[in-house]
Amino acid sequence: MAWNVVIAGGGFGGLSAARELEKVMPKQSARLMLVNETNYATYAPFLPEAAAGTLEPRHVVTPLRDILKRTYLRLGEIVGHDPAAKTVELAAKGGGNETIPYDQLLLSLGSVSRVLPIPGLTDHAFGFKGLADAISLRNRVVENLELANATNEHQRREELLTFVFVGGGYAGLEALAELQDFAADAMDSYPRARLHGMRWILVEAAPRVLPEIDQDLADYALRELRGRGIEIKLETTLNEVAADSVTLTSGEVIPTNTVVWTAGVAPAPILKQLNVPLDERGRVPVDDHLRVQGLDSVWAIGDCAAAPDPRGGTCPPTAQHAVRQGPVAARNIAAELGIGTAEPFTYRSEASFVNLGRYKAVGRIGDRKLRGFPAWFLARTYHMSQIPGYSRKAHAILDWTASMPFKRDIAELGSATRPKRLG
Ligand SMILES: Cc1cc2nc3c(=O)[nH]c(=O)nc-3n(C[C@H](O)[C@H](O)[C@H](O)COP(=O)(O)OP(=O)(O)OC[C@H]3O[C@@H](n4cnc5c(N)ncnc54)[C@H](O)[C@@H]3O)c2cc1C
Repeated sequence: MAWNVVIAGGGFGGLSAARELEKVMPKQSARLMLVNETNYATYAPFLPEAAAGTLEPRHVVTPLRDILKRTYLRLGEIVGHDPAAKTVELAAKGGGNETIPYDQLLLSLGSVSRVLPIPGLTDHAFGFKGLADAISLRNRVVENLELANATNEHQRREELLTFVFVGGGYAGLEALAELQDFAADAMDSYPRARLHGMRWILVEAAPRVLPEIDQDLADYALRELRGRGIEIKLETTLNEVAADSVTLTSGEVIPTNTVVWTAGVAPAPILKQLNVPLDERGRVPVDDHLRVQGLDSVWAIGDCAAAPDPRGGTCPPTAQHAVRQGPVAARNIAAELGIGTAEPFTYRSEASFVNLGRYKAVGRIGDRKLRGFPAWFLARTYHMSQIPGYSRKAHAILDWTASMPFKRDIAELGSATRPKRLG
């Protein structure tokens, strides 16, 4: 008899679990199914570089079929779950709902941008969570440079050449640093806009940025960004976002049509409809074996789970944790089905890096703190080892090498996804 193992979500956690299950579960003993919204996994740490054009957007994603050998990939969304009947509801891509039975279910549905009830935020701000966000933002920056170069109105130019990022965690800071670097280079092609000059602003509610790393490294990052002319506004957040301006809690009104919201993540909202327990932050609480509390055959990992961190508290929402939880959950699922032995999740994060663009980063490995080029080089080497698939590793190296001697590509491809009507 073959068991049905269903993995909901094919990102960092789900993909690493599927690969491990393929290794540990004999072919005849398990049917593996992975359900994902897309047929690729996104390597999120490279999104800032995709936005800045140092990496080709297609090269920051890996086709799931290139990686999975015998897992059945279904495209669509998990929209329901009946724990008593042991079934999940799939809204299949292309239409139609299906009920899928499971013996073991792994939830690895990730997270979304955490939004706050700020007037105009969801109507006018960009998120920075996926490939579409990175591409749209890049197109917005290029389009703004084009328009600013063409207009004679001072106020309009001000609005087009001001970019506001909200949230000083690593994702926001990396996106800001890479895009500002890109825009500063691209400005050479826009002489009239260059005369006016750009404003890049980071707004952060807390008294410091980068809570993920030590204060002295965060201070280094701030000095570096300020040195490039980026304005940093701490202990400040937004009162309102409009199409052409943003109002800060300090009362300042900044003319801008580009606000990027990177103020944290919230677990996948669909979890509320999946009949699983949720903690106060909407995450699925799991034990140290990553099993959902109170449900014998359901497991959860990655950003959507509240897993005990061996360092205390719960694991932070990072790819580092998701890719280590995936294989542990996979082996525990196999053990539950009689293959191998169960194990707790014991990974302690020893390293973290924040890329600041321009060949600089800050980071820590164990007790060792790194700044500038050595940190950047180590961060890049680490990411190269992590991005799944040899072809993606090779493409990333080629993209970086090719981007060094040449000017930045300033083609604005927003319209390329909207074909003209026939006739
Ligand atoms: C810009 C940026 C930079 C980052 N940099 C780093 C870094 O340097 N280091 C680091 O450790 N972490 C980094 N992270 C965080 C990291 O990307 C996340 O912690 C990681 O993706 C979590 O893995 P996951 O498997 O839980 O979720 P994801 O990787 O997000 O995967 C979730 C998957 O579930 C799918 N899904 C969602 N809902 C459904 C549904 N209903 N049905 C089916 N499928 C569904 C999604 O399509 C997705 O494929 C970064 C994040 C961002 C946004």
